[in-house]
Amino acid sequence: MSDEGFDHETAFSLLADETRVRIVEELGHATVSPDAGIPHLTYADLKSRVDVRDSGRFNYHLTKLLGNYVAKGDAGYRLRWPGMVLYRALVAGLLTSDADLSIDRFPTGTDCHRCGDPVEAHLYETLFRVRCWSCDANYADIYVPAQGLVDETPKERLRTVHRRSRTVLDAMTAGQCPWCANAVAVEVHAGDGSLPSLHDTRDLDAYAILRCTNCTGFHYLPVSQVLLYHPATIAFYHDHGVDLSAIPKWELRWAVTDATTEVRGTDPWRFTVRVPLDDDVLVAEIDDDLDVTATRVEEKRR
Ligand SMILES: [Zn+2]
Ligand SMILES: [Zn+2]
Repeated sequence: MSDEGFDHETAFSLLADETRVRIVEELGHATVSPDAGIPHLTYADLKSRVDVRDSGRFNYHLTKLLGNYVAKGDAGYRLRWPGMVLYRALVAGLLTSDADLSIDRFPTGTDCHRCGDPVEAHLYETLFRVRCWSCDANYADIYVPAQGLVDETPKERLRTVHRRSRTVLDAMTAGQCPWCANAVAVEVHAGDGSLPSLHDTRDLDAYAILRCTNCTGFHYLPVSQVLLYHPATIAFYHDHGVDLSAIPKWELRWAVTDATTEVRGTDPWRFTVRVPLDDDVLVAEIDDDLDVTATRVEEKRR
């Protein structure tokens, strides 16, 4: 072991003990606070919180965590960043299914942009889906830690899912993986029906794949959807008194279908997307890197 930490196998094997997991949890509960920063917990306080009588046993397990998960200073003990990540994963329920939340289909209040039937939402394991069960159009697929959805009303759940989706895709369209912070690569593909059926790409002339170059995190999306995160679109909505960031994407036909996307070229890919709002239309040119190369506002054609 070095101060820099452990290899992957050691880092995991060190957690295979109830007392060590309890130490991480108690240090997290007690020391992580925006008011106090990350203060230390004294040895006696930590031992009492973990509730282990046997000092030898407690010492043994605490020492195992030192270096990678736990730091020791003059004032006591605190979590290091890997310990913090572990603590947050534990309390988010990411490593367990302790929330065991089951959310049956419920209406979102939006009609399907494909067939007009109600768009519904449900939770499948930790994957939250927003889709039309009549025609199979899929509008959102996003992993949400179940703890974020417990005790929420359906309306609150939709807002949580919308916010989660924005956080993840805002990062990915900006080129950074929200899970590991590595670079995200962009690919544009012709919509030839080759994708797994539950992704919202089947009717599209073209779709984009955002793929992390490190951890394999990925997302499919209609090309027009990058505009949800672009300053030109956000400003266009703002100029009309509307906060684009507050609107769930499944409500925005231009963002979840290619109904207002025109393919201008395939080698390289070039697109023109029209975003209608009130009496205006934002017209955006998008290239094969999903960069927005030009925008203009036009009056809506009557
Ligand atoms: Zn439908
Ligand atoms: Zn990643």
